[in-house]
Parts: sequence; structure tokens; C-alpha cells
Amino acid sequence: MAEVFKNYIGGQWVAARSEKTFPNVNPANTGEVVGHFQVSGAEDVEAACEAAAQAQPAWAALPAPRRGEFLFRAAEILESRLANLGEEMTREEGKTLAEAKGEVKRAINIFRYFGGEGARAFSYQIPSERENVFCYTLRKPLGVVALITPWNFPSAIPAWKMAPALVAGNAVVIKPASLAPLSAYRLVEALHEAGISAGALNYVTGPGGTAGNALVENRHVRALSFTGSCDVGNRLHEKLGGRKIRLQFEMGGKNPTVVLRDADLGDAADILVNGAFFSTGQKCTACSRAIIEKTIYEPLVEKLVAKTKRLRVGNGMEAGVNIGPAVDAEQLHTDLKYIDIGLEQGARLLCGGTRLHGGSYDHGFFIEPTIFGDVTAEMRIAQEEIFGPVLALMRANDFEDAMRLANSIRFGLSASIVSNDLTRVHEFINRIEAGLITVNLPTAGVEYQLPFGGTKESSFGMREQGPQALDFYTETRTVYLKYA
Ligand code: NAP
Repeated sequence: MAEVFKNYIGGQWVAARSEKTFPNVNPANTGEVVGHFQVSGAEDVEAACEAAAQAQPAWAALPAPRRGEFLFRAAEILESRLANLGEEMTREEGKTLAEAKGEVKRAINIFRYFGGEGARAFSYQIPSERENVFCYTLRKPLGVVALITPWNFPSAIPAWKMAPALVAGNAVVIKPASLAPLSAYRLVEALHEAGISAGALNYVTGPGGTAGNALVENRHVRALSFTGSCDVGNRLHEKLGGRKIRLQFEMGGKNPTVVLRDADLGDAADILVNGAFFSTGQKCTACSRAIIEKTIYEPLVEKLVAKTKRLRVGNGMEAGVNIGPAVDAEQLHTDLKYIDIGLEQGARLLCGGTRLHGGSYDHGFFIEPTIFGDVTAEMRIAQEEIFGPVLALMRANDFEDAMRLANSIRFGLSASIVSNDLTRVHEFINRIEAGLITVNLPTAGVEYQLPFGGTKESSFGMREQGPQALDFYTETRTVYLKYA
């Protein structure tokens, strides 16, 4: 039997009151259970929030650089285990080993970055208009913060929420996604081994509808940072809007790459393949719409389809595999459903389009990377988030038409342009409705030391990561001090 992993509440590893567990299944080999996790309910969540509320004042009273030291120590512990943690992530989520190790490394970098923030956490000293009055601001933690995270970056997203929350002096209760809870468990375990104060960090697993719901409704919670789908995020926003707690929602995307006629077609094809298909298209920043100026449409499609057909789909543990499985049966079903919708609405299937069968493919949720041509702006595959390896190609008459197509969408997470035309590139940067903008790079592939977040329906609340992350997790106090 695979290992049973417990909740972490008040510095102790504890089983859920239900005495029930759920399996964490390998999507590349459904016969393998990676671990069993606690089915927590409202009582477990209450215990975690109560422990956090009890511990928070003493945690906040520690000097911030000392809080940062726990993150530094945990980073060392994680680094010493990087290879194992990468393998575990591939087994629980399906992404390739190289992608998984890269993500663990990123979580380590995030811990180090925010560990350093303990000794910075900048505030302002601002001149007073009165004599002998000294004015400055202080940052204060909010109290207990709730973190709810998705499965697709099961280490990096928990890390980029818990590290700034903790270093700012908040106590944390995290509920990770049920499809991939082990990677977040490993972060918590490392902080426990680093000696973090009991109750400052609490980890509870269980279904979103019960454990997650109990967490967001808990009276101790002063802030919620949620990353996940628009459906769940919008429901939570509606429910919590009246409670005057701080809210941060990072949600879905339908990210475009615009390719202008001066682009190098080989580079453009590489950028599209990387953005659309790596991590099986299961990145919130993945490219799912390519908007191509019509004069280069045909030659670019030829290169893109040829490159896509060379990608190897398989178990991410195997060398040479470029694309792992869909994360579960439901996501695979969604991918296939949208392929049917694309065909029904008249898009032209250029490659892929089917579930892979035979041999080891029969043990997992494998699907071919899929490209549709002749997609028009109103088609559902051009408007709705699929979250799989399905790319919609659209012809643009010119730059203006490309801008219109790129912005005619309710989402606004990331967007990229491939061009060396400086004027057009600047116009794109100024007019594109997206929070993350890349030039001659894929839509995905952001760095932890810069702010992260979208606009329109993709995001609500303050930015994550980079120096701005602390703004969400702290409240400003303003001091006027007369000294004579
Ligand atoms: P999801 O279904 O919305 O779940 C996200 C988290 O919310 C999970 O921990 C889930 O728990 C929990 N949850 C579900 N129902 C809940 C409820 N009623 N109350 C409280 N919590 C609840 O999203 P997902 O499928 O894990 O992730 C994929 C989505 O995340 C995509 O839409 C993607 O675009 C988005 N995403 C966005 C970003 C970004 O930064 N913008 C980054 C990554 C992913 P269970 O797992 O137990 O259901």
C-alpha cells in the first residue's frame, strides 16, 4: 500500500476526523497510487484555523529576518531532495521530469527570494509638511490567511503564496488541489524540518466543496489567495464579497500569440509549440490561440504542423518524452469534447485530435497535441479555456485585425507577439489586454522575481510574486511622529 500522508495542524501530523483517505493517482499509469491523503471536513479545517489564530501573534512578533531564515533553511532541505521531489511531481501530475525538476527548483528560488524579503519588506519614509514631524509607514500582517491552490503547478503556486504570507508574519492554512497534494506536502514538510513555529503553517487536504468551502468560510480567515478555474473563483468571489476580507483570485486564460509577417517562421513555430503543448497545454499561461498575418499563414502552418508531429507523447518519467498525459479522466474528456466542438463548428483539423491507445498509452490519459486551422473568433475553441494541448489558428488581415482578434476575449492573463518591428511591438505592448506580455518568447515561462497576474476575467485582486506580493499579505500603517 502506498504511503498515507497526514494533515499538518499546529505543528503536528494528524489524521482527519473522518478517518478516511483518498488516493493520489499517477495519470500516466493509473494502476499506481502515489499516496493516500486525508479526507478533511469542517472540523479539521476549524482545528487548522484555530491553531493558526493561536500561533499568529507570536509568529508576527518574531523579527521578519528571522522568519525569513526558516524559508532559507527549507530551501536547503528541498534542494537536497530535488531529484526525488521532481520524480514525485511527475508521478502525481504527469508533467515531464525536466519540467517537474524545473518547477521544484523554482519553488526553492521562491523560498530564497521571499526569505530575503524578511530583511527588506520596504516601507516609506515621506517628508512631513510640518516641522519636526517624522512620517513613515509600517507593514503589518493580516492575521490568518487561507491559500487554495490548483494541481497544474503543485509546488510553485503553493510556494509563491505561502512564502510571502509567512515572511510577512501571517499564519497560513493551505488546502492544495486533490489531484496533486504531495508536492505542497513536501514544502510543508521542509518548513517543519526547518523548525517553523508550530501553528504558523497548517496544511489540510480534502475536497474543494467541503474542506475548501469550510476554509473560506472560517471566521479566523482575514485573506484568501485562490488560484484555479473561473467557475470556482467566481463563485467564491460572490460568496465572500460582503465579508471584507482581502481577496486575490488568479484564474483561467485563453492566451494569444500574434505572429506578424516579418517574423522568422522557424522561431515562431518553436514559440508556438512550446507555449501551446509543453506541460500538455495545462498551464494557465499556455498559448491556445495563434493569430497569424495572412501572408505568412500557410508557410508557418506547414512548419508548425511538422514540428508538432515530431513531439513525443508518453510517460514524463521516460527520457525523450516531450508531453505527458492529461491530469485525469475529466480533463482528457474536456480536451476531447472541445476537439469535437471544433470539428462541429467548422474548424479544420490539421493534426492530432485523438486519444492515444495501445501499449502503455492504455494505462494513462494520453492525447495527441492538436492544431485546428481556419478558426474564427466566435468559435468556442477560440473563446473558452480548454486547458489541454489544443491550439486554434486564426488568420489576421493585418496588424489592426490581429489586435482586434487578440483582445476579443473575456480573459486577459498572458499574450505574446513574434516580430522585430519595433513600432508594432510597442503598439502591441500598449494595447494588448493581458497582465503578462512577452515578445519573441512563448506566452508561458514567467519568473518568480517579477509580478504575476492577469486582467479582465482572468484575475481579481493584487499581483502575486515579485516585490508586489507582500502588498497583498500586509496592511499599511501610517505614523506621524513629532519629536520636538
Ligand atoms: P479548480 O477546480 O478551480 O480548483 C482549484 C482549487 O479550488 C482546488 O484546490 C480545489 O479543490 C478548490 N475548490 C474547488 N471547489 C471549491 C469550493 N467550492 N470552495 C473552495 N475551494 C474549492 O481548478 P483546477 O482544475 O485545480 O486548476 C485549473 C484551473 O486553474 C485552470 O482554469 C487554470 O487556468 C487555472 N490556473 C490559473 C493560474 C493563474 O495564475 N491565473 C495558475 C494555474 C492555474 P479540489 O482539488 O479538491 O477540487
